[in-house]
Amino acid sequence: MTLGQFRLDGQVALITGGNRGIGLGIAEIFGEAGAKCVITARRDHPEGEAQLRAAGAEFDFVSADATDPATPERLVRHTIERYGRIDILVNNAGIARHGDTEDFDDERLEAILATNVAQVFRFSRAALPAFTAQGSGVILNVGSISGLASNVPQNQAAYNASKAAVHMMTKSLASEFAARGVRVNAVAPGYIDTDMSRGGFANPDWDPIWRQMTPMGRYGTVEEVANAALFLCSPAASYVTGAVLAIDGGYLTR
Ligand code: NDP
Repeated sequence: MTLGQFRLDGQVALITGGNRGIGLGIAEIFGEAGAKCVITARRDHPEGEAQLRAAGAEFDFVSADATDPATPERLVRHTIERYGRIDILVNNAGIARHGDTEDFDDERLEAILATNVAQVFRFSRAALPAFTAQGSGVILNVGSISGLASNVPQNQAAYNASKAAVHMMTKSLASEFAARGVRVNAVAPGYIDTDMSRGGFANPDWDPIWRQMTPMGRYGTVEEVANAALFLCSPAASYVTGAVLAIDGGYLTR
């Protein structure tokens, strides 16, 4: 047994939503672990790319809307053309929309389902032929504690449903592809300090409630999620598939 099993030397990862927030943290630690990464998002985030360069990560940023049905196959093809192979897919891109259900319009509902569910399926479907052809590959989905518990008082029925779908897709793909050398896992973060939380549930009304509901009494960091992502995507987790790993400061112990 060696600590080298936690490294990703020679491996190539495609990370959606990879240049800020949790995705950026994952790209950074993957880079440190020796992987080359294609990262994608709709907009350029120069600070994230500067952070990756400073960390010495080898990466390629491609601007793309993950909800465009043509994007997943194009990006998997691009990854293979750019770095010669693909070993890891991290389905991280996601959005949060909250509000009382009676007032929750179709536009927000459709945006949630397209971004958090349909593109996760399409990216996975696009990467699986390469994974099964080489007899190895890892998919890591970014789910949420919101896929395992409701979020009163924020009210997020659509977001809750989308993340529960991600968890179930994880388990279903894990069992479908285990015999072909593909592992599929998910992380379920609790409240993590990112643009998403700063723009939503970290507002002054809700902040004390979240802290009280989280036994550790604080938000998590992107690094704490990225550490778990590295484990699940590395050879150290070679017997782990279909897992949904909560990184939540004890939130789900309630
Ligand atoms: P951020 O809002 O900080 O980052 C989201 C990332 O996704 C950005 O890079 C964004 O880039 C990208 N993205 C969003 N929509 C699209 C799209 N249509 N096409 C391509 N890229 C897209 O969020 P977090 O880092 O906090 O969240 C990352 C994941 O973690 C999400 O799936 C979220 O649901 C999940 N999560 C977050 C928690 C938290 O507390 N922060 C808790 C539990 C789960 P751009 O806008 O430029 O497209």
